[in-house]
Amino acid sequence: MKKIVILTGAGISAESGLGTFRAEGGLWAEHRIEDVATPEGFARDPQLVVDFYNARRAQAAEAAPNAAHLALANLEAAFDGDVVLVTQNVDDLHEKAGMKRVMHMHGALNGALCGACDLRWPAPMVMAPGDACPHCKAPAARPDIVWFGEMPYDMEEIYDHLAQADLFAGIGTSGNVYPAAGFVAEARRHGAQTLEFNLEPSAVGSQFDDIRIGPATQTVPEWVAEVLGG
Ligand SMILES: [Zn+2]
Repeated sequence: MKKIVILTGAGISAESGLGTFRAEGGLWAEHRIEDVATPEGFARDPQLVVDFYNARRAQAAEAAPNAAHLALANLEAAFDGDVVLVTQNVDDLHEKAGMKRVMHMHGALNGALCGACDLRWPAPMVMAPGDACPHCKAPAARPDIVWFGEMPYDMEEIYDHLAQADLFAGIGTSGNVYPAAGFVAEARRHGAQTLEFNLEPSAVGSQFDDIRIGPATQTVPEWVAEVLGG
């Protein structure tokens, strides 16, 4: 086994206290997805959307990586081969855990994006609608988040990695959001073994060769120890 491609989703951050839009309570419960996670919602009410991500950014800044994040960083550092981590999460808990290479396919809370020229730069803790782009000066700064209806980042590179993977692991993903939900099928098509970690099988759970049920903070460190030990 020379190349492992890992996809992480909301389930891995949930154990660090960051809620998902499916979870009860929390930030998402007060808002509709159409209002805070679509380009149309941002056009309608930029203040509401910017405030929402300011709150999520503040919450993420307080969160600490858990045992699953730390185990994956250890895998990256110690595995005799290539570890590629793709995440659907917009928090930086993988980076806080020490992971060197993280592909944020859905963007990042600590990023700003210019709606006029596509420049990306580090977001301030508190963004405001109409913040100017440092490059083109347009008052068009927005959170660097891939909203519903927008194209995720790095797709070409991700599919290249999936085509070369010996093992594809999905951790804490719902299997409901495409294109990420299609990664397991893509990896399988190219001959990879596939392994899911989840509290319950995801919507695409039946496509995995094997499923390990349980909290990621238990199942992921166990698996990493097996990979590094074997
Ligand atoms: Zn710009």
